[in-house]
Amino acid sequence: MSCIFCKIANKEIPAKIIYEDEHTVAFEDLNPQAPVHVLIIPKKHISTPLDIHTEDNALIGHMYQVANTVAKEKQIDKRGFRTLMNCNKEAGQSVFHIHLHVLGGRVMMWPPG
Ligand code: AMP
Repeated sequence: MSCIFCKIANKEIPAKIIYEDEHTVAFEDLNPQAPVHVLIIPKKHISTPLDIHTEDNALIGHMYQVANTVAKEKQIDKRGFRTLMNCNKEAGQSVFHIHLHVLGGRVMMWPPG
């Protein structure tokens, strides 16, 4: 398995993990785009958002619950934060194992560009 985020989930390569449970891992982004930039991944390998199927509905909902936990832990919940998942090339997806970005600690621009 050559997926870099599977390797992080399996502890085969290091990451600054800030939260983990049975189904997900959350860790600091290597190249942060905001004062807070955390990635939440499922331990299950899913390549892109297009590969999310009905059986994953609870897992995806759980990822958003983890995002809330991370936002509270990082104290950006009340100020506001952005969650996003890129899909394929034109959206900027560069790692093909789905990940929910949690960004905060500064004012977010819209449109995101
Ligand atoms: P995306 O462009 O939406 O696929 O996001 C991939 C994110 O993963 C980028 O923000 C990268 O900085 C981040 N990233 C890539 N490799 C690692 C790594 N080994 N540890 C932490 N973050 C990473």
